[in-house]
Amino acid sequence: MNPFNAELQQRLAAIRADGLLRELRRVDSPQGPRIQIGGRELLNFSSNDYLGLANHPALKEAAVKAVEKFGAGAGASRLICGSLAPFHELEETLAQFKGTEAALTFSTGYAAALGTITALLGKDDIIILDKLVHASIVDAAKLSGAILRIFAHNDLDDLEKKIQWADVRIRAVNDKTNVAFRARTLIVTESIFSMDGDAAPLREIVALKEKYGAWLMVDEAHATGLYGVNRRGLAEALGVSDRIEIQMGTLGKALGASGGYICGSRALVDFLVNRARSFIFSTAPIPAAAAAATAAVKLVQSTEGQKLNEQLWARVAEFNSAIRNPQSAIHPILIGDETAAVAAATRLREQGLFVPAIRYPTVARGAARLRKSAVPAR
Ligand SMILES: *Cc1c(COP(=O)(O)O)cnc(C)c1O
Repeated sequence: MNPFNAELQQRLAAIRADGLLRELRRVDSPQGPRIQIGGRELLNFSSNDYLGLANHPALKEAAVKAVEKFGAGAGASRLICGSLAPFHELEETLAQFKGTEAALTFSTGYAAALGTITALLGKDDIIILDKLVHASIVDAAKLSGAILRIFAHNDLDDLEKKIQWADVRIRAVNDKTNVAFRARTLIVTESIFSMDGDAAPLREIVALKEKYGAWLMVDEAHATGLYGVNRRGLAEALGVSDRIEIQMGTLGKALGASGGYICGSRALVDFLVNRARSFIFSTAPIPAAAAAATAAVKLVQSTEGQKLNEQLWARVAEFNSAIRNPQSAIHPILIGDETAAVAAATRLREQGLFVPAIRYPTVARGAARLRKSAVPAR
């Protein structure tokens, strides 16, 4: 074996010894309550396709029509000649859905986080993250060069301490400058946490950021389409949507398609078009993905969307009858040890149940778990 491959084999052996080796599992069916893996049909408790839209006829039809009208690829970045009509329709539909002035879509939620945070913040700024935010936000924070502070998960006292610390520092920096790019503090949290399934105290976080004049970004990846009268997300359900500067989400989970979005003011979107590098320096996604996402946003707002939503929550209640107050469609069963979690997932798979073992680096070391998620029956 050549030295390069030998060294990588050594590294893989170390990862395996820690119970952390990951492998791809080929799925031979569309997403749904049952999926085909390794020639077997398994009950699927692992998906983020919370409303069963990924294989919904309305999304498939929209995608097929977009392929016929606009082709398979966008051919260039949005700012060159790739800003095809389906992207504009999607952004108008999203802004209307979320009740914001404007929306901008990215190839993924990961790219949305990366582009937005690095556009807004630089080395004089401070970013304060909940301990459990998604890797895309952590990576973005690091790449931005801003000073990074972490507050204990959903801990408002700790958050306020970090904001106070930041406030003093930011004031000192801004006393010396008076330019368009003043130093800022940005707080970022998820609304529903992806691996724990609990909810952030958004009302209290909004009150805190307003008290100190900080900015707030909320990642609604696991809440869009699921919470609130109009199913906009947890911010809607808690009545704070119009007090959050940056609302982020993905089109790939409950919306069943692919891509990421930022909803907010016209100024925010105009600024991102100029400064978000993951948006600017990347070919536009395939137009069919945007068309499918537009169909999904419309479907979520329809009576059928409401019905699917009710079915999901009925399923969550059924699933989690042992839990008094389930806050989301995500139910982690904490195991701790990585190897034990993998062994438990393997045993469940042998029984025909697909429940993934979630391990470091997705969660902390020693906090491995089975992550059970609900989808409506169809
Ligand atoms: C999945 C996820 C993302 C990334 O979105 P993609 O569209 O999958 O790239 C961002 N934040 C959270 C909380 C997520 O769960």
